[in-house]
Amino acid sequence: MVLQNICVYCGSNPGRAPVYLEQAQAFGRELARRDIGLVYGGADVGLMGAVADATLAAGGRVIGIIPESLRSKEMAHLGLTELHVVKSMHERKTLMAQKSDGFVALPGGAGTFEEIFEVWTWAQLGFHSKPCGLLNVAGYYDQLAGFLDHAAESGFMRAEHRATLMVESDPATLLDRYVTYSAPTVSKWIEDEKHL
Ligand code: AMP
Repeated sequence: MVLQNICVYCGSNPGRAPVYLEQAQAFGRELARRDIGLVYGGADVGLMGAVADATLAAGGRVIGIIPESLRSKEMAHLGLTELHVVKSMHERKTLMAQKSDGFVALPGGAGTFEEIFEVWTWAQLGFHSKPCGLLNVAGYYDQLAGFLDHAAESGFMRAEHRATLMVESDPATLLDRYVTYSAPTVSKWIEDEKHL
């Protein structure tokens, strides 16, 4: 699969340990090195600002998409290749998804979780066939990955669908997996005769 643009969701805070910022910057540089554009929430704060700055500094393209209501709160980044100011959070997420060939969550909080889970659940329903994953910086997502394994073991999602949320600690390894990704063709529903 050719990756023209990758959507990154991540914290509007920088996190306590310096490794979160460092790895957000490393991810941005890796995108630029591969000539993959960054699509993100358009803010100039936290890890969001860091990944955008690193992509731009390495000569990459960055598309930011920010709702009018957050323009001042999250401080829209003014140095981007493109900045789209949209009316609502829903419009933001829709446009980010449309413009991207894959989705990655770096460490973040509730906003980050909501965004990656939404696009991942769309993949599970077959609404798109784009890769989704977590950049597991310093084990940040270990417990979430373990819980998702538990959800699959407990029969609430197929192992094939659990596996589509890729978890890697190295930016290059994660993006290599995106290039060769193909979406599973199995139905979401397990042992449900009504859907057979
Ligand atoms: P956080 O991970 O909580 O720091 O948030 C990261 C980004 O997600 C920020 O740009 C937030 O504006 C955004 N965000 C927060 N809640 C939502 C939501 N419900 N839908 C879409 N984006 C959100």
